[in-house]
Amino acid sequence: MLANRRVLSAKRIVIKVGSSSITGGNEHNLDKIVDFAVELLGLDREVILVSSGAIATAAPLIGLTAKAEDLPTSQALASIGQARLMGRYERSLSRHDKIPGQLLLTVDNLTEEVTSSNALRALERLIEIGVLPIINENDSVATQEIRFGDNDQLAARVSILAKADLLILLSDVDSLYTKPPTEPGAERIALVKFGEDLSGIEVSGTSTGYGTGGALTKLAAAKTATAAGISVLLTETDNVTKLSNSDCNHTYFEPAS
Ligand code: GLU
Repeated sequence: MLANRRVLSAKRIVIKVGSSSITGGNEHNLDKIVDFAVELLGLDREVILVSSGAIATAAPLIGLTAKAEDLPTSQALASIGQARLMGRYERSLSRHDKIPGQLLLTVDNLTEEVTSSNALRALERLIEIGVLPIINENDSVATQEIRFGDNDQLAARVSILAKADLLILLSDVDSLYTKPPTEPGAERIALVKFGEDLSGIEVSGTSTGYGTGGALTKLAAAKTATAAGISVLLTETDNVTKLSNSDCNHTYFEPAS
């Protein structure tokens, strides 16, 4: 099925974008993601954005050139960068007379009944009033042990909380491959059936720059979401301009029925 057909057959859509897609040399992508989200809103879809990028945004502001290894520095960077990141989203959305609402969540917030239902209530109201909810992990208060660690998993859990129909994982790579796509013989996988055995494929757990993702965390997130009945579409951030109106390389993970 064409990518746009898959997207438009969903009513409630969670879009996840990683740090490397919207920071550094890829800052220009943020407007494209916002344009896509706003377009979906105009088509009467409900949209939640899960965005990384706080730490990567902050690092150059305090002169860091490599990823911080220690927790306090990461927490500080998240605190600095989150405000900056939301400022960028706010300016981008203002081109469409829209505003964002920020939700910072931890694992605990989503596993405890009271806080998860509080978060859901806020989300539902933001959606109702036409605001774009933008979620990130609350890295400044989370310790290593209670962190999602990667926003792919956070996005899957948010999709479950919000009972989304579709989770779109925007990545550096346009699809899932049988082995890292830079290696000879790597084949693109267009469709993953629910429960399909993927043990034969070779995935890398790392990604470039500040992201903590890579194919491994995308697969884990797809597994979490599809098990809860949510479809997952994985594609490259560059393809975001095609997702509402045409086809592009992607991997579709069928949900459990
Ligand atoms: N939440 C982190 C940030 O905004 C990134 C986590 C991830 O890379 O998935 O910088």
